[in-house]
Amino acid sequence: IRFTEDKGWHEAKVSAYKPLSIDPASTVLHYGQEIFEGMKAYRTADGRISAFRPEANARRFAESARRMGMAELPEALFVQAVDELVKIDRAWVPSGDGRSLYLRPFMISNEVFLGVKPASEYLFIVIACPVGSYFSGGAVSVWVSEHYTRAAPGGTGEAKCGGNYAGSLVAQAEAKEQGCDQVLFLDARERRYIEEMGGMNVMFVRDDGVLVTPPLGGTILRGITRDSLLRIAADNNITIEETQIDIDDIFEGAASGRYREAFACGTAAALSPIGRLRRTGGEAVFGDGSSIGPVSATLRQLLMGIQAGRSNDVHGWIHPIV
Ligand code: PMP
Repeated sequence: IRFTEDKGWHEAKVSAYKPLSIDPASTVLHYGQEIFEGMKAYRTADGRISAFRPEANARRFAESARRMGMAELPEALFVQAVDELVKIDRAWVPSGDGRSLYLRPFMISNEVFLGVKPASEYLFIVIACPVGSYFSGGAVSVWVSEHYTRAAPGGTGEAKCGGNYAGSLVAQAEAKEQGCDQVLFLDARERRYIEEMGGMNVMFVRDDGVLVTPPLGGTILRGITRDSLLRIAADNNITIEETQIDIDDIFEGAASGRYREAFACGTAAALSPIGRLRRTGGEAVFGDGSSIGPVSATLRQLLMGIQAGRSNDVHGWIHPIV
């Protein structure tokens, strides 16, 4: 779908996958006016194909567009575009545990000029690809980034824009060099409080059973899985604390047994246990360092039960498409 100031959103069409042709002076290539979403279509227990909370992705997409000075795509149009593509690609939605059709809606500015200002022409596209489970089971190991931050107050941390990920690539590569699966970012001001991982939010379970996670404050992504898990936790009488989490406190708490469980959550990972957090000169191990803890396992099962259509969808999160 295209956006121009005179016509608004127009030219909605579905076509076979093919390269895009864009002008070398298209503003996206120079100033990175680009936003995206990541979501999945699943085969649910009733044999239908459904998406999980696509309206939430549509809302976050509109918020990202506002932050990046881009044209806002009406939320209904976002959901409709996703629905249309999934209907056409229905044969590509795999069945089986953890498997799904990954959907990547994105928007780029494609006006042609070299001045630094928001563009007035945009292109919104959705592409799809079948995927399996993100992590091959077992616990994830995480490297606490010492030098890099992902977002600063007033920056674009809360927007799902390509630039945030461009800035995190070397930090993620460093985590891999350190033998870890993922990077964990600390806050930009004090380099002390936990924010989020390269592509996931993070939560901890304290020995009093409280689920602890960093608050949304403009520098972390408003994860839809995060939000869903907090609501599921509340439904199941698990106490939640959205509070600043000091990295030193986590390392001490893991050693003393005060923090027994840690996990990553996001569309790709669903809920994956964190076995170890590592940083220069130290390691925090949760539980036995490899298996999922009881609270994490309960939350995972409840979330995946709803997503797979096995449990009662009390919040109306399942959006049937086919
Ligand atoms: N944080 C970041 C930086 C991410 O890229 C993602 C994945 N979209 C998340 C958190 C988790 O968000 P969600 O649960 O909506 O996938």
